Amino acid sequence: MQKLDKNSIFQGNLILVNQNYPLRCTIAAKNLCPAFKYQSEILMQRESAVMLNKLLRELNKGVSEEINNFIVGVSGYRTKSEQEEIFDDSLKENGREFTEKYVAFPDQSEHQTGLAIDLAENREEIDFIRPKFPYQGICQKFRIKMADFGFIERYKKEKQKITKIGAEPWHFRYVGVPHAEIMQRYGMALEEYIVWLKQFSFPDHSFTWWKGDREFKIGYVKAEETLTKIDLSQYGEQGQEDKKDDLAEGEELPDIQISGNNVDGFIITYAQ
Ligand SMILES: [Zn+2]
Repeated sequence: MQKLDKNSIFQGNLILVNQNYPLRCTIAAKNLCPAFKYQSEILMQRESAVMLNKLLRELNKGVSEEINNFIVGVSGYRTKSEQEEIFDDSLKENGREFTEKYVAFPDQSEHQTGLAIDLAENREEIDFIRPKFPYQGICQKFRIKMADFGFIERYKKEKQKITKIGAEPWHFRYVGVPHAEIMQRYGMALEEYIVWLKQFSFPDHSFTWWKGDREFKIGYVKAEETLTKIDLSQYGEQGQEDKKDDLAEGEELPDIQISGNNVDGFIITYAQ
């Protein structure tokens, strides 16, 4: 039996962080690690960093030059005070309209979750707030492959009304496998996906998704007032949080993952 306290709603790969649902839980330092071999200052949550590296290695197949010569990290995990500083600096430099369009308020930034990464095409001059990550060449190849590794382009132009953030072709968010693929297939922003998932109550009405020959089931559980108990015994129960922390590079993801949605409940993902 998995027992989840109120705080667990605010943690996990699928947390929705935006104006309406600010970050409620700070990621522990031990769950962060460098996202790039040559840019040790850019940190991400451990699992998302592992998956980003798998994705970059996949893109490097058949290319003689290092992928890091073409794609570089611009910004990963930020503390709240770093986010405040970026916001204030941009206010001074770019004014309020620009800043509110492209820079999230402190505690409303996905960068504070460790699950987001800003990427740039490697050029002489890289704009920190709006780096270039074009819809062509190696950057587009990244987009074509990313869902396979659990990443989505978080702020698309056509979803601006829903996300309340201007188009950010450089900002990628880890949501995990197979969620990124499902969101892409149905054209949903994370805001929409979190609502959509609520119809699939766990376990009886879970959503089924095939990735190759692997069958995934995804279900939603509404959080109880204090403690939410989820019976996972028939799926080979395991403490997914502990496992995630220990996830080494190259290791397979656990069969059952539980993520809070940062709104009102949990999403259970299990592979059969
Ligand atoms: Zn970003």
